[in-house]
Amino acid sequence: MTPFTYAKADSAPDALRLAGDDAGARYLGGGTNLVDLMREGIERPATVVDVTGLSDAITTEDDGSLTIGAATTNAALAANTAVRERYPVLARAILGGASGQIRNMATVGGNILQRTRCTYFYDDAARCNKRVPGAGCDAVGGFNRNHAVLGASPDCIATHPSDMAVALAALDAVVHLDGPGGARIVPLVDFHILPGDTPDVETVLRRHELVTAVSLPALSFGARSAYRKIRDRASYAFALVSVAAAIDVDGGTIRDVRLALGGVAAKPWRAAIAEGLLRGKPATEASFAAAAAAELAGAKGYRDNAFKIELAKRTIVAVLGELTGIAVFGDRTGVDA
Ligand code: SF4
Repeated sequence: MTPFTYAKADSAPDALRLAGDDAGARYLGGGTNLVDLMREGIERPATVVDVTGLSDAITTEDDGSLTIGAATTNAALAANTAVRERYPVLARAILGGASGQIRNMATVGGNILQRTRCTYFYDDAARCNKRVPGAGCDAVGGFNRNHAVLGASPDCIATHPSDMAVALAALDAVVHLDGPGGARIVPLVDFHILPGDTPDVETVLRRHELVTAVSLPALSFGARSAYRKIRDRASYAFALVSVAAAIDVDGGTIRDVRLALGGVAAKPWRAAIAEGLLRGKPATEASFAAAAAAELAGAKGYRDNAFKIELAKRTIVAVLGELTGIAVFGDRTGVDA
């Protein structure tokens, strides 16, 4: 590991001060991804600023929204009563990720900033445009079972690995940032960037900006929400496909719905096409299937991952069936472990 300086910040201004003039400075949350990247030599910061001293409070605001400090651990967020009661999709997504030990360390800010688990990204003998811009991408013609089917480019087909961020995308979460240019907020769905021809640029973060909090607007039907994760083994595995959903049904008609997919793109994929088709439709398997098919109509499979397209459709139908109490024929996606 390359030598680096370490300092712990107790506030956002303190973190910015400690990052100083080092353009390559990195903020350290629980370290569950950054430390691995540093051990592998993929990240080589000369300055590491520990931001676990920033807020870890979870606060219900007067307008009913929930503000979550960036240093909140995944374990604490999943155990929070307001989250479990008002946004069960978020608690289930977090509990579907990683192991108990990792959830005890990983922070909310770090979770949304974690980097892809594409094996070629971690292998410095492989070509990877994300690690070395312009080098090529060995995943496109290589082993790509875990890779993207939506929003990918010829330069990168990596997926974003977070479960939590998929639920946040479905819940219209807003990311609070602070940096040399001042504080600003960005919708979670706009925070991550699809690869295009610059897969090394993954978020809208500017130099030295850091995540200070994430907020969730009040959602009247948030209690009727769920997360289902399909993976190669029952625990401690990244999603092949995941679905986060919340739905409001009135008299058999879908009044409103939130839907996001994980494991299929370089960012949590808000399924806006499907949502638009579902609103006002009867809550039936046929409506769910038509919306899922429309959302995945633009998907593209590669050598090993084309199965994800059908899997994503079926998982959308299955989760909406679960939430509406409709027995969905052909739900073969299994129950989330
Ligand atoms: Fe690198 Fe992206 Fe290609 Fe993986 S898919 S090797 S991260 S460029």
